[in-house]
Amino acid sequence: MGKDDMLYGIVQKGREMRHNGETWDEIASHLNILTEDGRINPGLAKRMVMDDYVPARNSTRIRIGLKPNPIIKVMGDEIIHDGCQAIYERQCACGQYFIPNHPLRDHCFICRPFRTRK
Ligand SMILES: [Zn+2]
Repeated sequence: MGKDDMLYGIVQKGREMRHNGETWDEIASHLNILTEDGRINPGLAKRMVMDDYVPARNSTRIRIGLKPNPIIKVMGDEIIHDGCQAIYERQCACGQYFIPNHPLRDHCFICRPFRTRK
Protein backbone atom coordinates (compact mmCIF):
# COMPACT_ATOMS: atom_id res chain seq x y z
CA MET A 1 0.00 0.00 0.00
CA GLY A 2 1.35 3.43 -0.91
CA LYS A 3 0.62 6.60 0.95
CA ASP A 4 -2.94 7.58 0.22
CA ASP A 5 -3.88 11.13 1.20
CA MET A 6 -7.57 10.35 1.00
CA LEU A 7 -7.19 7.38 3.31
CA TYR A 8 -5.08 9.45 5.69
CA GLY A 9 -7.82 12.10 5.73
CA ILE A 10 -10.52 9.54 6.53
CA VAL A 11 -8.51 8.04 9.39
CA GLN A 12 -7.58 11.44 10.85
CA LYS A 13 -11.12 12.80 10.64
CA GLY A 14 -12.56 9.56 12.01
CA ARG A 15 -10.22 9.63 15.01
CA GLU A 16 -11.07 13.24 15.67
CA MET A 17 -14.80 12.55 15.55
CA ARG A 18 -14.40 9.47 17.73
CA HIS A 19 -12.41 11.55 20.20
CA ASN A 20 -15.32 13.99 20.30
CA GLY A 21 -17.65 11.18 21.25
CA GLU A 22 -19.47 10.72 17.97
CA THR A 23 -20.90 7.31 17.14
CA TRP A 24 -19.64 5.07 14.35
CA ASP A 25 -22.93 5.70 12.57
CA GLU A 26 -22.25 9.43 12.62
CA ILE A 27 -18.64 8.96 11.58
CA ALA A 28 -19.50 6.64 8.67
CA SER A 29 -22.21 9.04 7.57
CA HIS A 30 -19.93 12.08 7.71
CA LEU A 31 -17.07 10.29 5.90
CA ASN A 32 -19.46 8.79 3.34
CA ILE A 33 -18.42 5.23 4.18
CA LEU A 34 -21.25 3.27 2.65
CA THR A 35 -22.26 -0.30 1.95
CA GLU A 36 -22.75 -1.51 -1.62
CA ASP A 37 -26.44 -0.69 -1.42
CA GLY A 38 -25.81 2.83 -0.16
CA ARG A 39 -26.44 2.51 3.58
CA ILE A 40 -23.92 3.88 6.06
CA ASN A 41 -21.34 1.31 7.09
CA PRO A 42 -20.27 1.93 10.71
CA GLY A 43 -18.42 -1.41 10.87
CA LEU A 44 -16.17 -0.51 7.98
CA ALA A 45 -15.61 2.99 9.37
CA LYS A 46 -14.53 1.53 12.70
CA ARG A 47 -12.15 -0.98 11.09
CA MET A 48 -10.55 1.74 8.95
CA VAL A 49 -10.16 4.25 11.75
CA MET A 50 -9.23 1.93 14.62
CA ASP A 51 -7.60 -1.10 13.00
CA ASP A 52 -5.69 0.45 10.09
CA TYR A 53 -7.85 -1.58 7.77
CA VAL A 54 -7.51 -0.60 4.12
CA PRO A 55 -10.23 -1.84 1.78
CA ALA A 56 -8.69 -3.97 -0.94
CA ARG A 57 -11.60 -4.39 -3.32
CA ASN A 58 -11.71 -1.63 -5.91
CA SER A 59 -15.50 -1.44 -5.85
CA THR A 60 -15.28 -0.55 -2.15
CA ARG A 61 -12.30 1.78 -2.59
CA ILE A 62 -14.00 3.80 -5.31
CA ARG A 63 -17.25 3.97 -3.37
CA ILE A 64 -15.60 5.56 -0.34
CA GLY A 65 -13.37 7.88 -2.37
CA LEU A 66 -10.04 6.03 -2.37
CA LYS A 67 -7.97 5.56 -5.49
CA PRO A 68 -8.47 2.12 -7.04
CA ASN A 69 -5.53 -0.25 -6.93
CA PRO A 70 -3.91 -0.72 -10.33
CA ILE A 71 -5.02 -3.80 -12.21
CA ILE A 72 -2.22 -5.75 -13.85
CA LYS A 73 -3.25 -7.88 -16.77
CA VAL A 74 -0.94 -10.38 -18.39
CA MET A 75 -1.68 -10.36 -22.09
CA GLY A 76 -1.25 -13.60 -23.98
CA ASP A 77 0.62 -16.55 -22.58
CA GLU A 78 4.03 -15.02 -22.01
CA ILE A 79 5.95 -16.22 -18.98
CA ILE A 80 7.41 -13.68 -16.57
CA HIS A 81 10.78 -14.89 -15.29
CA ASP A 82 12.17 -14.05 -11.87
CA GLY A 83 13.73 -10.63 -11.85
CA CYS A 84 12.24 -9.58 -15.16
CA GLN A 85 10.23 -6.39 -15.27
CA ALA A 86 8.49 -6.72 -18.62
CA ILE A 87 6.19 -9.22 -20.23
CA TYR A 88 7.82 -9.11 -23.66
CA GLU A 89 11.25 -10.26 -22.57
CA ARG A 90 13.13 -12.87 -24.52
CA GLN A 91 16.07 -14.99 -23.56
CA CYS A 92 19.27 -14.83 -25.56
CA ALA A 93 21.35 -17.94 -26.28
CA CYS A 94 23.80 -16.60 -23.65
CA GLY A 95 21.08 -16.83 -21.00
CA GLN A 96 20.51 -13.10 -20.61
CA TYR A 97 16.91 -11.89 -20.69
CA PHE A 98 16.27 -8.79 -22.77
CA ILE A 99 13.45 -6.70 -24.15
CA PRO A 100 13.58 -6.82 -27.93
CA ASN A 101 13.49 -3.52 -29.83
CA HIS A 102 12.36 -5.36 -32.95
CA PRO A 103 10.32 -8.54 -33.46
CA LEU A 104 13.25 -10.23 -35.22
CA ARG A 105 15.84 -9.52 -32.52
CA ASP A 106 16.79 -12.83 -30.92
CA HIS A 107 20.03 -11.90 -29.19
CA CYS A 108 20.54 -9.63 -26.19
CA PHE A 109 22.14 -6.21 -26.50
CA ILE A 110 25.41 -7.51 -25.06
CA CYS A 111 25.83 -10.25 -27.68
CA ARG A 112 24.41 -8.07 -30.47
CA PRO A 113 24.88 -4.42 -29.53
CA PHE A 114 22.43 -1.88 -30.91
CA ARG A 115 23.79 -0.43 -34.14
CA THR A 116 23.44 3.23 -34.83
CA ARG A 117 23.22 4.36 -38.42
CA LYS A 118 26.13 6.29 -39.81
ZN1 LIG B 1 23.30 -12.66 -25.22
